[in-house]
This record gives sequence, C-alpha cells and structure tokens, in this order.
Amino acid sequence: EGNDVLNINQVIDATSHIFEDSICITKNISLEKQLDSSLGETPGNPEHLKQILTNLLKNAVEALEPGGKIIISSEASVSFSGRDFSAISIQDNGPGIAPEVKKNLFSPVDTTKGQGHSGLGLSIVKKLIDDMDGSIVCRSNPNSGTQFQILLPN
Ligand code: ADP
Ligand code: MG
Repeated sequence: EGNDVLNINQVIDATSHIFEDSICITKNISLEKQLDSSLGETPGNPEHLKQILTNLLKNAVEALEPGGKIIISSEASVSFSGRDFSAISIQDNGPGIAPEVKKNLFSPVDTTKGQGHSGLGLSIVKKLIDDMDGSIVCRSNPNSGTQFQILLPN
C-alpha cells in the first residue's frame, strides 16, 4: 500500500480515454487536457486515482448539457502550507453547485439526482484522497461552472 507509485498524467490519459470514447461522444461533450509534462512519479495507488477521476468526470458529464466542456489539467509543483504537491484540476462549464448542496458535498448519500445515483461518488473521492494524505477543494457557484482541485503530496 504505502509504497505504490503513480504517474498522474498517465492515469489522467487512461481515465479520460474511456470518457472520450463513449459518454463524451454520445453526449457531445468536449474534454480538453492541459497536462504538465514535467510531472514525474508521485506516491499513491494508480487504481485509486483512476477511481477518483472517474467519479469526478462522471459528475461533470452528468451536470453538462450537450455542447458542454470539461478541462482536466495537471501541475507538477504547487506549494501549500510549506509542502510540495502535485495538483489536478477538473473543471466544467455546467450549472454549478447550489450552496445548500455544497455544504455537505463530500458526505455520503447526498444526491440531487434520481434513481441509480447513490450519492456516494464524492464521499469515496474524499476518502481515497485522505488516504493519500492529499486534499480536495471545490470551487463552484450557480451558473459559473464547477472546479475540483486535488492536491497530492510529492
Ligand atoms: P451522485 O453523483 O450519485 O449524486 P456524488 O457524491 O457524486 O453523488 O455527488 C453529489 C452531488 O454533488 C450531486 O448529486 C450533484 O448535485 C453535485 N455535483 C457533484 N459534481 C457536480 C458538478 N460537476 N456539477 C454540478 N453538480 C455537481
Ligand atoms: Mg456522482
């Protein structure tokens, strides 16, 4: 567990391919990548990061109307509280998240969607990121889209 390594850009590529080849085509959503080529290996389990990105991309796709856009980006070195992190951002130009939903965003069983939606996606994301000693923040306002930023220790 503790000595896994992952290549963030590789995991982003692998995960976004699945979306590009299916949901993004059928729903006419564009997915743009802005990857920092200086990113090397960071600690963590690649399957866990894949699960994190899948849950966030799925939410973005579900929030977007046809013609919507997702930008996923990476950054090799972000300093925060005196520590060095890699950063990943997933941004969409959808409807944003209402303040009352945002309050308990990462708690389980908190869905605004219908049948087939567990409301567990973001609580799983939060747990996996906590387990990696990382952090996640959500910047979103109604009508101005949504950005999730993930910081993972280098
Ligand atoms: P679920 O997708 O099953 O509803 P999640 O935990 O993945 O559960 O998300 C919780 C809620 O957060 C969603 O129901 C939705 O209201 C909101 N949400 C998450 N991501 C976005 C996004 N990118 N745009 C708008 N709303 C979002
Ligand atoms: Mg979800």
